[in-house]
Amino acid sequence: MYAPPVQRLISELGKLPGIGQRTAQRLAFHILRADAEDATALADAIREVKERIRLCQVCFNLADEERCRICQDERRDAAVICVVEEPGDVIPIERTHEYRGRYHVLGGALSPIDGIDPEDLKIAELLARVEAGGVTEVVLATNPTTTGEATALHIAAALHERAPEAAVTRLASGLPVGADLEYADEVTLGKALAGRRAV
Ligand SMILES: [Zn+2]
Repeated sequence: MYAPPVQRLISELGKLPGIGQRTAQRLAFHILRADAEDATALADAIREVKERIRLCQVCFNLADEERCRICQDERRDAAVICVVEEPGDVIPIERTHEYRGRYHVLGGALSPIDGIDPEDLKIAELLARVEAGGVTEVVLATNPTTTGEATALHIAAALHERAPEAAVTRLASGLPVGADLEYADEVTLGKALAGRRAV
């Protein structure tokens, strides 16, 4: 129906989450109409993130160096670790301005039905960080979903066994159940952080 390069662009855009065939076509025509400069900037931005962004060696957040900016920041309290599922979950917590500790990004949530087991996540790395000492609290900020809750329970049990000196807390309820952290507004999330309780 379209020239092969246009068809290729539509099909690549259509692979993005939430982008159906019609939206992919609309975006493709937008790009075709755009200045060459703007279109190239988009292509370059995609290439640059793939080339330069990797996972922080300590917390597995996104980083453009060996350690992410938060792990490099000496003012951040290394005794408190907030555990989240995805790098995108760090941003809403940072926006609350309620949290001054460090993070640990699991890379997903436990879901046996989808074949996601503890060894597929950065759980062993978290336990090693806590066992290394100096950590007084681990805040479990996985999503308030079935898989997020199961992940929090699994990690809490492992921490109680292997690092009993560290307190383990969970965000207070009040977050919309079944939703991802990244959709929570900062006031609600800030309250959930302030009201966290031991698990
Ligand atoms: Zn880091």
